[in-house]
Amino acid sequence: MVSGKDPYQQPSPLKFAAGIGLIDTHCHLDCEPLRSRLPEVLAAARRAGVIGCVVPGVHPRDWERIALVAGEHDGLFAAYGIHPMHADLADDHALARLAEIGAAGVAVGEVGLDPGYGVGMEQQERAFRAQVRLAVAMGLPLLVHCRRAFQRTLQLLHEEGAGQVGGIMHSFSGSPEMAREFIRLGFAISLSATVTWLGAQRPLRLAREIPLESIVLETDAPDLTPQRFRRQPNQPAWLPEVLLAVAEIRGMLSADLARATLGNTRRILERVMV
Ligand SMILES: [Zn+2]
Repeated sequence: MVSGKDPYQQPSPLKFAAGIGLIDTHCHLDCEPLRSRLPEVLAAARRAGVIGCVVPGVHPRDWERIALVAGEHDGLFAAYGIHPMHADLADDHALARLAEIGAAGVAVGEVGLDPGYGVGMEQQERAFRAQVRLAVAMGLPLLVHCRRAFQRTLQLLHEEGAGQVGGIMHSFSGSPEMAREFIRLGFAISLSATVTWLGAQRPLRLAREIPLESIVLETDAPDLTPQRFRRQPNQPAWLPEVLLAVAEIRGMLSADLARATLGNTRRILERVMV
């Protein structure tokens, strides 16, 4: 735990991979406490070798803000969508707005299924299906949030033709076997700092066993803080923590993993141009 220091002035652990660059495929930079210190947050990320961040949508009221933030800063890429926790807001009006603003994004998301929230599963499925359909119609990849509903998520993605656009399973918490099902459908598996957490077993097995060409990285900042910085809000500058932990468990050089995940991200999110 590093305490008593400015969290945006800590030294970068990724000097050796600086020439390669990493992309944070899921980072809520439009949310506090990141948004009000965005210049420092982005400078720290750049020093750590993070050359791009994808900012996903959660609530329809955030979309304009995400568009603004992404428009004002190089290397920030907007995605638009309604998170399963707000699935009750996915009415005709919101979906029509999503069809408009969403076309300017690099992906549609975050969308998906999560029984851990108060919104009923029927409502979540309706919102999810509608947004997958939109993504397919727009030819945009999906950023999928899924917890404890893997089979159903897979089934809905199949039924709505998501294989045509693919996307990313964000901070995937399922088994390597389940991950392979999503990979078969055209999705990449995003690993987060859960691989750094004390006692983590499932995330490490996943990180070790999934194919290299299907791995991308994310922070999900300000959530999912790496073990070393626990109790502080997460930030994109700490993405190398994920890289180093995954490289170690796979027994590979972090520079090689950085190169591979950068290539994977560019392949899956074609509109992310960094
Ligand atoms: Zn998220």
